[in-house]
Amino acid sequence: MTAERLDRFMARANAIYYATHDPFADFTTSPEISQIFGEIVGLWAGVAWQYLGRPDPVLLVEAGPGRGTLMADALRAVRRALPDFAAALRVHFIETSVRLRAAQAAKVADATWHDSLDSVPRAPMVLLGNEFLDALPIRQYVRRGSGWTERYVADGAFIEHRADLGDTPFMAGVANGAIVEVNEPARGFIAAIAERLRQHLGAALFVDYGSEQSGTGDTLQAIGGGRKVDPLSRPPGSVDLTAHVDFAALVRIARAAGVGVQGPVTQGSFLSDLGLFERTEALAGSRLPGPAEDLRRSSLRLASPSEMGTLFKVLALVSPGCGALPGFSGRFGV
Ligand code: SAH
Repeated sequence: MTAERLDRFMARANAIYYATHDPFADFTTSPEISQIFGEIVGLWAGVAWQYLGRPDPVLLVEAGPGRGTLMADALRAVRRALPDFAAALRVHFIETSVRLRAAQAAKVADATWHDSLDSVPRAPMVLLGNEFLDALPIRQYVRRGSGWTERYVADGAFIEHRADLGDTPFMAGVANGAIVEVNEPARGFIAAIAERLRQHLGAALFVDYGSEQSGTGDTLQAIGGGRKVDPLSRPPGSVDLTAHVDFAALVRIARAAGVGVQGPVTQGSFLSDLGLFERTEALAGSRLPGPAEDLRRSSLRLASPSEMGTLFKVLALVSPGCGALPGFSGRFGV
């Protein structure tokens, strides 16, 4: 078998995985853990829309919507609390998996689907992406002496080929043998969003796991049946492949493109600023003791530092001149 560059392997494997599996049998995401996640994100989108001067119509775009749960919860909250936003918004989904598109259609009636951002109309928008960037394929470079190699996959194992790096920027002082990861599609997506936000009023919210600082190390991870497994498990597409998001790299790209950058802040700080625990108690009050406790446990799972609260970060990009958005008052920049 010939060697396949890691990003091509990961793209191929994930396309098969998302086309053939119910990913949520293997892992759970924040919107699947609690309805409050989507409610808060939806209300955030509505407040961002108000800060942007209430453009009407406005696209509410979600990248990688999974089962459609986040959007369904967001729309329910928005219809109740922000009817003007509900009336102005048009839902657009960016989703490559036919199988997941069907799940999304079952939850959200009135949406338009796209294979990529390219076909989403150029217009005012609020874009949401939860655990979208981590699913995009990465390249891995290895420092070898004064040069670099790149990792390929052959017969279920990694091999290295000398890398022709051209003008790719790399970290200075990387130790021999260390791995540097580059997520080209994530970088391209951020650059494309930034360009749109300069042309039309808008905001984008990305929630994902990863570090605020660029670093070295292999973060490619595979989850199968709820457990971490070998990322090169075969056949390709039998497990979900993700990698940590390098938020610092994305922030640099957005800043260079001249858009406003807010965060990253931790998911725990974002959600608690926006009333996660108040909403939890309000909902818990009308439930039986068992379900009320489940709800409280779910909220802690989203926000607690030992679970998803610190590892997950929230980053917003906004059109130039837009003020500080809710949830980002804590800390700016990296
Ligand atoms: N946001 C959801 C799902 C996360 S899983 C949640 O939080 O539950 C990743 C999602 O991104 C899936 O919907 C997957 O099909 C989609 N996806 C992965 N790669 C993609 C790509 N290149 N373009 C569009 N969608 C993609």
